[in-house]
Amino acid sequence: MSKYGKLLALIVIGVLAIAVLGVAGCSTPAATPAKTTEKPAVDLKLVTSGQLTVGSDTAFPPFESMNGNVAEGFDVDLMGAIAKEMGVAKVVFKTEIFDTLIPTLKAGGKFDVIASGMTIKADRAKEIDFSTPYFDSNQSLVMKTGGVYKVPADMASKKVGVQSGTTGESWATENLVPAGATLVPFKDAVSAFTALQAGNVDAVVNDLPVSADVIKDPAKGLSMIAQIPTGEQYGFAVSKDNSALLKAVNDGLSKVRASGEYDTIFKKWFGDLPK
Ligand code: GLN
Repeated sequence: MSKYGKLLALIVIGVLAIAVLGVAGCSTPAATPAKTTEKPAVDLKLVTSGQLTVGSDTAFPPFESMNGNVAEGFDVDLMGAIAKEMGVAKVVFKTEIFDTLIPTLKAGGKFDVIASGMTIKADRAKEIDFSTPYFDSNQSLVMKTGGVYKVPADMASKKVGVQSGTTGESWATENLVPAGATLVPFKDAVSAFTALQAGNVDAVVNDLPVSADVIKDPAKGLSMIAQIPTGEQYGFAVSKDNSALLKAVNDGLSKVRASGEYDTIFKKWFGDLPK
């Protein structure tokens, strides 16, 4: 074979190779639509398209707190895993005072979903739609370490910190005020516990898993005086006019539970599996 003949042969082989690869390459996009159909076929109505914007009171560890300007916690990881199942690549947490989460969601335009350790309650469910429950919770009463108290009897003339607009505040209103306590409202749980450490209030009523996290640090000098079995369940919340999003969140949550990812996230933040 002449020099040119060899070159021509190489070129022919090259072209054939490219053709074969090309055909093989064509079969890859053919497989892609099959993958896409795993994602919900609906076009989700979102405040910012392609992103799930989440409203949250980010002073409620270990469910949500700010690490610099990055939100972290159980709700943050769970919402992220659900969004992935929904086919939404990006999740952005926006901080909002707990008390204003529902009216802001209702007003629209700021966030798509609430993930904020929010208890599913009939009066709230009139305003917004809740997902299926994702966490079981109770209330608790925390005081400075050292005393022994009966709750509610020994709360007479005590100043009790509560978080405005929460189930803890409702429980304290119904059970501690009649026993003679004065309630002091705070905008979030962290502020209430800070006031307790500073001696500005005598006790704090708050969701048990959050209190358990606070008292873990012995340097804070706080103890859980009472566990209060209110039998609450947390749910994510969406606007009543976004049933497609509610379905996507519920479907995503059941997939995350079925895959075992829920348990992995639970262990990461609580050290053990849900009881
Ligand atoms: N679970 C409580 C409620 O829904 C408190 C939630 C919170 O403070 N983030 O009222």
